[in-house]
Formats: sequence, C-alpha cells, structure tokens
Amino acid sequence: MPNLTRRSLLASTAAAALAKGTAPAAAAAPPTGTQTPGVYRYRIGAFELTALYDGIWYRPIGDTFIRNAPFAEVERALADAFMPADRLTTPFTTLIVNTGKKLVLIDTGTGGQIASTAGALGDNLTAAGLDPGAVDQIVISHFHPDHINGIKDKDNALIFPNALIMVPAAEWAFWMDDANLNAAPADLKLTFRNQRRIFSDIAQRVTRFEPGREILPGIEALPAAGHTPGHTVFAVHSGDQSLMVLGDTAQHPAIFARHPDWQAAFDIDGQAAVTTRKKLFDRAAADRMLVTGYHFPFPACGHIVRSASGYEHVPVEWQPDL
Ligand SMILES: [Zn+2]
Repeated sequence: MPNLTRRSLLASTAAAALAKGTAPAAAAAPPTGTQTPGVYRYRIGAFELTALYDGIWYRPIGDTFIRNAPFAEVERALADAFMPADRLTTPFTTLIVNTGKKLVLIDTGTGGQIASTAGALGDNLTAAGLDPGAVDQIVISHFHPDHINGIKDKDNALIFPNALIMVPAAEWAFWMDDANLNAAPADLKLTFRNQRRIFSDIAQRVTRFEPGREILPGIEALPAAGHTPGHTVFAVHSGDQSLMVLGDTAQHPAIFARHPDWQAAFDIDGQAAVTTRKKLFDRAAADRMLVTGYHFPFPACGHIVRSASGYEHVPVEWQPDL
C-alpha cells in the first residue's frame, strides 16, 4: 500500500463518497448531558476496595471560616487551587472494603440530604455491581451529617437494610448527650437533632468501639480526635499492604494539606484537629502509605508528601488491572 498521509487518505475517502453521491458520515454525536459513574476499584492485599463517589457540595464560607488565618489568605489558597471564591469545594467519597468474608462500608455519604449535587452513592453502588442489601457492616468515622445521613433516606428508611453499624464510643457519648445538645449554639443543635433522627430508633443495630484496636478482621481503628471529639480513622491491612482511611483529618487537601495549621470553623477542637492532622500526615509521608480522604478529589486515594510549608496530596494513577 502506498504511504498515504492522513490528509490525503481523508481527501480520497471524501472524493470517493462524493463520487458515489453520498456524504461522509456525520462526525457529530449528540451530547449526552450526563456524567459517567463515579466508581474506582483497587486492592489492598487480598481485599478488594471500591471507592464510590456520592457527589459534591460547594459549601458557602466567609471570613469566620478559618479561625487562625485572615480570609484574604484563604481566598488566595482557593485561587491557587483553581477553586471558586467564597465556596469550599467539598466532594464526598465513600469506601467499600470486601474482606472476602464481609462487605464493609466506611461512612455512608449524604443520603441525598445535603446538596442537590450529592446523593449519587446508590447509583454508583449499582454501577459497581454491588447491592445495598449485601453490605454486612457500616463503620462510621464521626457523626457529621455528610458521613451518617446515608444510613437512612429522607423518609427514614434504612438504605442498607442488613448492615450492622459500628460507631466510635466517644462520638456517641458526646453527640447523644442531651446536656451537650442543650448547651450547643442553634446551628449545632441541628447536627445533634439529625443524629437522633438517624440513630435513636436503630440503636439495637449499633455497637460502639474504642479506637486503638482491630474492630473487624483487617480494619484497625485509630484515635483522631479534634474535628469532632470521637473522630476516628481506620488502617486497612491485608498481606503486606495497608491503607489509611483519613476521614476528615483534613478536608480538601488543596486547602488543608497545604495549610495544615489552619483551624476550620467546623473543627470542634481546632488545635487538636491540627495536631492529629500533622501526626497522621507525618506517618503517612514517612511510611509512604496509601491514604484515602473522604473529601479528597475522586477517587480520593493517593499519597501524602511533605512540602516546604506543609503537605501535598499526590493522587493515584488509574489502574486498568486490579
Ligand atoms: Zn465530612
């Protein structure tokens, strides 16, 4: 065959089509107007993990958002990260761990009750070939609504009807205490009331755990208080591989890994949140440990490295093979 350039090949094809009285096939396909499923699968040793995207929320923020930095610095950090001003980009990614014996869901997404742009967990579960009824165990990092609302739909029906639920004992003790509810400012009272809506009538499904030990085979709970009093992270171990499930140790890494000293208004104990963040990030960086963060960009998985002034999140490469 002669050595045809692409242009001459196209020209000769078009000329042939014209000669036959037919036009070349139209190249324009109609736009679909919809996003593709948000599912990413990877392995830790013998465990198969599925990251499931629930959606994103652009949380309004103002000059009280960071307690210990001027808002101009926050605005600069948002601009440096190509994020909208006056909004905190807040994606949600939950994680399914298939240990071979149990299907474990770590945090449950928004249940479609936080933002119109979130609530895709169910669709993505289906796209991943998983049935909500097959989830044996739900493990909760802390009691903020974006982590627990996916236990129930807006009509209070269980979304994972067969799952038992494990929660940090300190988280239950703090939030389910009516004295703490009564002492809370009005906006935080909503959080307390939401926790009662989720947990009060299903308490028999809920067990409370102390961090510092393995709570399920291959899943170790580690104390990470600060963001909330009982905030907990999880180390998933199988074979010689490990993953740190960071929960809300840092919100979006483009803001809070780069500025690890920043104390956000939503951290109950800002100084403790900073201490926990640095401790866990130092460990992840030193051990070159794979990490996932609930509010990291999808698939929310990667590594943490030190930088001159803080840390950077280095996302995973998409792996075609497990
Ligand atoms: Zn959160």
